[in-house]
Amino acid sequence: MKQILYDNHGRPINYVRLAVTDRCNLRCFYCMPEEGIDYVPRQELLSYEEMERTISLLVSMGIDKVRITGGEPFIRKDIMPFLRSISKLEGLKKINITTNGTTTLPHLEELYQLGIRSINLSLDTLDKERFFAITRRDVFDQVMETLHTMLKMGFETKINTVVMDGKNTDDILPLVELARDHKLSVRFIEEMPFNGEGQHYSDLQWNHKKILEHIKQVYPNVEKLPDPPNSTSYNYQIPGFKGTFGIIAAYSRTFCGTCNRIRITPQGMLKTCLYDDGVFNVKNMMRAGATDQQLETAFLEALGNRAKNGFEAERNRNFGLPVSESMSTIGG
Ligand code: SAM
Ligand code: SF4
Repeated sequence: MKQILYDNHGRPINYVRLAVTDRCNLRCFYCMPEEGIDYVPRQELLSYEEMERTISLLVSMGIDKVRITGGEPFIRKDIMPFLRSISKLEGLKKINITTNGTTTLPHLEELYQLGIRSINLSLDTLDKERFFAITRRDVFDQVMETLHTMLKMGFETKINTVVMDGKNTDDILPLVELARDHKLSVRFIEEMPFNGEGQHYSDLQWNHKKILEHIKQVYPNVEKLPDPPNSTSYNYQIPGFKGTFGIIAAYSRTFCGTCNRIRITPQGMLKTCLYDDGVFNVKNMMRAGATDQQLETAFLEALGNRAKNGFEAERNRNFGLPVSESMSTIGG
């Protein structure tokens, strides 16, 4: 019988998000500063062997879903052999990927062959110039080609759109309308202060309520869909549309009560909440010679002391400093 992991609040934990690198070929405004990024020295990143050991151990403890994220996962050399290896792990039911779509296209065929069916593609605008303004790179056409190929191949496709005041709110409706003819889900994410610099705005202007109100002004007949268990998004459909849309209250943190996920950062830090500053470093333990049993005990202890929600996790951060690291070093 499958083992189930629980945290100290009785929440089942079956999902790990693994950030395989902090490097990226884009410089999204909300995620990284344009210049002066301090990448983690290469030897400080988890090696593939260390990542494989971590995932294999977590799967033996009851985790059955992994999301590969970053940084940009496809920028790390030899990502495909790594995916090939973990796709063979017995007990790992799902490997999902979050990518910016710039260098993903040549890998789609093999991803599909490996049984990977669900990809989240980050796309904040359908306007080429605005794409450049947001990501600071001119690769809109490549991303759109990736999107259309993913749809043609039958990947379960989610688009991640960070809603930014004064930057892309004019894109909300065109992005919703992508779901008219395409079977995909566009998910609007509240901007969080994870940009390597601190908060862009003193107050979040576009929270989940405002995003929905904005869509309802044009589509008053929006229908609420039942949210799958552990969903971080509120999900909706416009009658007659093939696809759906969702809203993720990432800053308002309305979903903590059913949070089933943990994170491993590129440096090997375990985070039991997006808003904490790390519980223990898996890589350091491994490099100091820890056995699997010792690692397992450390994971269990961490889950036994998990913050109740993202607000508590943020309050408990060391030195009380607010969140300001880049999402690429956390794994969004
Ligand atoms: N490079 C890949 C990508 O962009 O899809 C994967 C890593 S990225 C850090 C993962 C997700 O985090 C992306 O969908 C991105 O939009 C989201 N993200 C990054 N910074 C964010 C922020 N400050 N607030 C909300 N979401 C953010
Ligand atoms: Fe790179 Fe993804 Fe961050 Fe954009 S959101 S800078 S694509 S890691």
